[in-house]
Amino acid sequence: MKTRTLVLVGAAALAALPVSVGTQQAGYPMTIIAPAKGPFTFPAGYQTPWDKIDIMVTEKMSPNLFVLHGSQGLDSAHPDASGGRALALFGPDGVLMVDTQNRQVAEKTLKALRSFTDGPIRVLVNTHVHSDHTGANAFFAKQGALIYAQENLRNEMMRPPRRAPAAGQAAAPAPAIDMTGIPAATYSYNPATPGEPAVTFYMNGEIVDFIPMMPSHTAGDTIVRFRNANVIYIEDFYRNFGFPFADHSNGGSLKGMLDAVDLIQKVAGPNTTLIPGHGTLVKKNDLLAYRAMIADVMAKVKTLRDSGKKLRDVLAANLTAPYEATTLGDTQSSKDRFITEAYDEVKDFPPVVDGKRTMGNDPGR
Ligand SMILES: [Zn+2]
Repeated sequence: MKTRTLVLVGAAALAALPVSVGTQQAGYPMTIIAPAKGPFTFPAGYQTPWDKIDIMVTEKMSPNLFVLHGSQGLDSAHPDASGGRALALFGPDGVLMVDTQNRQVAEKTLKALRSFTDGPIRVLVNTHVHSDHTGANAFFAKQGALIYAQENLRNEMMRPPRRAPAAGQAAAPAPAIDMTGIPAATYSYNPATPGEPAVTFYMNGEIVDFIPMMPSHTAGDTIVRFRNANVIYIEDFYRNFGFPFADHSNGGSLKGMLDAVDLIQKVAGPNTTLIPGHGTLVKKNDLLAYRAMIADVMAKVKTLRDSGKKLRDVLAANLTAPYEATTLGDTQSSKDRFITEAYDEVKDFPPVVDGKRTMGNDPGR
């Protein structure tokens, strides 16, 4: 194993540097397996068969930056490709990973990674708390990775938001936490300096920026920029499979997702490849129609709620209809979740505290 010292540059030092973005090498990015388009349906009571799911190199972003993603058509949460994309930057300085896929496929994710590098896994950054992105954290920490994330993500993991129990059921006890998988190195979003990296790594000929985001998909989101490859992993505040999802309990908001799209317009160049957590690779202009849809639906939901409509009336108004033909993964539950988020957000929306929101369970809605 060849080791070199990692150079860590703080945001203050970096602010003095011009951010130069490299030009992608000819032939990159290379899509090896594109996500499936669907539509997919699963029978009632379907359980994801983890033993059948494989993890593969699905895209190569540069000669030493590969994407790991799962099988198609098996994971009911993500039928287009199982789990959330994980990235691996590899070379003589070891491996830097972005996200870790689901816990159930940890060994397969490592096997896929070992198909192209035998380097030590040294650094891991989590883009947000969801289990399809952090599920194998403890497994990869045991491989040697030091885990980085926003402080809010650490809070969300240490003290998961309490979700209202289903009608007639007692609240479930909090699950035990495996401290091995909890981020050890944290930073926070600074509203005064949006888009500034909190951490920069110089590794394997790349310059990698961890850029904390405003509360958007969750309150602990980070995007990860690879300057030389001209690539940004933009995780889940944008999606092109299913309707938008802001995780309110973990501090997310649709409004914040609009702000996140606006920040990407400033941070990304016209040819920067953006890697969502799910769905197809995009460029920053592809985010604009998505932004317009969220703004349109929120405005219409606000008008209905202000006129005294209940949630069921707003759901029945079918406000996503103009967007269904062009939205892959268009399902009733995806639509209803999006409209319910908008309904909860346009009035009496609770603030973020320690990365979480205490969402009321308003029986009058
Ligand atoms: Zn995800």
